[in-house]
Amino acid sequence: MDLGFLLHALIPSLNSVYVLVVFFGYLAIAGSILPGKVVPGVTLQDGSRLCYRCNGLLSLLLLVALLGVGAKMDLLSPTVISESGFELLSTTFILSVLVTLVLYAAGCNSQNQGSSLKPHVTGNLIHDWWFGIQLNPQFVGIDLKFFFVRAGMMGWLFINLSVLAKSIQDANLSCSMILYQLFCALYILDYFFYEEYMTSTWDIIAERLGFMLVFGDLVWIPFTFSIQGWWLLGNKVELTTAAVVANCLVFLIGYLVFRGANKQKHVFKKNPKAVIWGKPPRVIGGKLLASGYWGIARHCNYLGDLLLALSFSLPCGISSPVPYFYPIYLLILLMWRERRDEARCAEKYKEVWAEYRRLVPWRILPYFY
Ligand code: NDP
Repeated sequence: MDLGFLLHALIPSLNSVYVLVVFFGYLAIAGSILPGKVVPGVTLQDGSRLCYRCNGLLSLLLLVALLGVGAKMDLLSPTVISESGFELLSTTFILSVLVTLVLYAAGCNSQNQGSSLKPHVTGNLIHDWWFGIQLNPQFVGIDLKFFFVRAGMMGWLFINLSVLAKSIQDANLSCSMILYQLFCALYILDYFFYEEYMTSTWDIIAERLGFMLVFGDLVWIPFTFSIQGWWLLGNKVELTTAAVVANCLVFLIGYLVFRGANKQKHVFKKNPKAVIWGKPPRVIGGKLLASGYWGIARHCNYLGDLLLALSFSLPCGISSPVPYFYPIYLLILLMWRERRDEARCAEKYKEVWAEYRRLVPWRILPYFY
């Protein structure tokens, strides 16, 4: 692809602004009015707790249905995203910059001293804009952090669906494309099915809302996690039956470990006596779970996620490193994140964490790392 073409493709048009306005408008309205389990978040430093309405799955399915009907009635083109990917990318990037500048200004002017809205200003503009000023900023009653991550995960699915529509339209639907689409769709649907688990994750409880998070949610997740789909539109891969079976196994094992580990921790936080794999849990210092997946490695959930990421790329074969962008990025991210979380937990749990480290010496992959 030549540079001139790329630069031209990146210029935002009114069409891409329109797509984003409709998407975010829908999410704001659906998130506010559709029914969903209201889940209390973790207790913040000042003792307060935010509540999250977990109606992401319903919002997603309703939007898929609405878009499906719209496409059937020729009101919209299912390939609109796949045909304007670059300009949607640049428009979303510009939106992220604008939103985070507003967040920066609003955060600096906040007088609120509660944990959610208390401003954390170092005085270094770039640092404060990048990492954010406030923990849980809101807009018209919408928790923006929860909103953006939801938008990013849904955006990923809609890009994939549009890429799928394009490959059907071009009559080059392949087994690789079907596997990639199936694995990602299952992963995203599962994410929304268990959306309440998100309320206790690092991003939600510990990270302030700045450019790093907003860009990560709105641009990075949908546009880079879907590289395999874009790549398959222009490349043919022949998969053997053995490769397909192996690929499905990597997905399945990854899913079991990822979901199993996250579920065990979530259940443990709610009920520290709940049985794990049919036995009473081993608990350290009354606070940390050391059985099930959490007795195998201190971040087994990261291992599951990495296997899943690999399974999304394997359908593309091994002729190019490009489709492996996501697993490689995730490996770097999760190794870095594990170190940060380890430091945080060591400080929070002190000798209890030291005991946990002694009992469970592996960070992510038993006998290796
Ligand atoms: P975790 O869900 O692993 O949460 C870490 C926290 O869990 C710790 O800070 C601690 O918090 C608590 N904890 C850690 N060990 C134990 C234990 N043994 N017993 C009880 N509590 C424990 O981390 P993340 O939020 O980073 O990740 C959540 C999921 O999201 C993971 O599966 C990860 O793979 C995925 N993810 C995916 C990304 C992607 O780009 N695809 C990016 C980032 C994450 P506390 O102080 O509350 O006890």
